Amino acid sequence: MTSFKFFSAFVFFSLMILSVSCRKDEYKIVTVTGEIPASRMGITLPHEHVLFDLGMIDSIGFHKYNKDSVIRRMLPLFEELKPFKVQTFVDGTPEFMGRDPQLLADLSRKTGINIISNVGWYAADNGRHLPREIKDMSAEEIALIWIGEAKNGIGNTGIKPGVISIAIDSIGLSENDKKLVAAACLTHLETGLTIMSHTGAAAGAYAQLKILEKYGVDPSAFIWSHAMEEASRSKVLTIAEKGVWIAFDGILPEMEPSVRISEMIKYMKSIRRLDHVLLSHDAGGYQPGLPNGGNIRSYSELFGSFKLLMLSEGITQDELYQMMVKNPAAAFGVRVRRVK
Ligand SMILES: [Zn+2]
Repeated sequence: MTSFKFFSAFVFFSLMILSVSCRKDEYKIVTVTGEIPASRMGITLPHEHVLFDLGMIDSIGFHKYNKDSVIRRMLPLFEELKPFKVQTFVDGTPEFMGRDPQLLADLSRKTGINIISNVGWYAADNGRHLPREIKDMSAEEIALIWIGEAKNGIGNTGIKPGVISIAIDSIGLSENDKKLVAAACLTHLETGLTIMSHTGAAAGAYAQLKILEKYGVDPSAFIWSHAMEEASRSKVLTIAEKGVWIAFDGILPEMEPSVRISEMIKYMKSIRRLDHVLLSHDAGGYQPGLPNGGNIRSYSELFGSFKLLMLSEGITQDELYQMMVKNPAAAFGVRVRRVK
């Protein structure tokens, strides 16, 4: 090879390497078994629960269930996901409601499915799932706890959270709601973790976006969970235009909610915003205290009747890929998103 040819080949391969390393989807994703590049997330369920405890905060704890029994109960539901090639599962159960990163790590190793745990608290339900000390804590103090978990791992597990999961009551933010959103902003700015907020109607999303603005956090760092609860399309449009991730995460086996969500997806397509849509079930998982974990909803509805419904409504395979693979990788990829 002449030196010119060698030089050209060198430049060509250098550019190839540079273009691969600069691929936008190569942000990292923090799973319970370690970091992976966002391109390895694959088909993702962005909002589910392996275990969820709605009991009073004083009653919550690992003593309420046997990990092996939970895993035995949950394994078939994860096996059901294999034919659909689901590679990643985001567990939104916050602290004080049954978050158990070790359980998630064991389940992930047994199934080969990536699982993402979280840092964050749940202020919805009038704050009854919050620790009492919160009333004396500032947003900065809460953020310090969350940033500590993001950097050093949750408790003594060494397992790191891959998302900030909070919940607020949508109609008029309470002081606790505001504190959690502010703490989530501070945690995002320090860790780059995305904020996923159980919200509901648009009023709650607007109110939270105001807090994001105050802290200089870009709306693209925010997932509006349960957006299907907002009936006004113009409000969904206004929020989508800000760059927020719109999560239609209430897919159920029943026809009525599925039709409603598919109508919203068609609307998002009409306004060219399918690149901001996330789809999931918000299935509640194992409920400690109930016989054999109670009635547990499937995590695969999305890939069966719901997918058929969307295809029959003119949503294409490429658009499904966008919503189930590309969007989660972009939404959960870890990086700080400041307002430019
Ligand atoms: Zn949820």
